[in-house]
Amino acid sequence: MPAYDPNNIFAKILRGELPCYKVYEDDKALAFLDIMPRAPGHTLVLPKAPARNILDVPPDDLAHVAKVAQKIAKAAMTALGADGITVQQFNEGPGGQVVFHLHVHVIPRMAGVPMKPPAEFKEKPEALAEMAKTLMAALAAG
Ligand code: 5GP
Repeated sequence: MPAYDPNNIFAKILRGELPCYKVYEDDKALAFLDIMPRAPGHTLVLPKAPARNILDVPPDDLAHVAKVAQKIAKAAMTALGADGITVQQFNEGPGGQVVFHLHVHVIPRMAGVPMKPPAEFKEKPEALAEMAKTLMAALAAG
């Protein structure tokens, strides 16, 4: 497997060199909205420490990312009135990975509404800003 590339786009977001629509942050993880959501509220959860994917991440960081993904899933159920949540995580190109800093997709789902194909639809900035506010408020409320 190739080495971690510190110039991947999510590493730049983690360093604050590129913007994101932040949903949650603590000392070990950051969660922000996918700008090409497969459904409204599609959120990505990342460990702050460098890790290419599930194959090189320290198990404690992976466990923490899972905890944050759970928090976001619960917040999306209440704040967005979701009927379900799809969690996805891809590893290496043949496994579907496109950005090589580990991330877990948390995708709120509505009954009868299929997910959009990956990278098909770029959400409007205003809609992303509003969604981030909604999810952040729900997470802060616990
Ligand atoms: P994966 O690597 O798991 O296949 O998915 C990468 C995800 O990152 C895709 O869902 C894609 O829409 C999302 N993505 C790609 N570039 C950016 C970006 O610059 N900002 C954000 N927030 N998401 C991105």
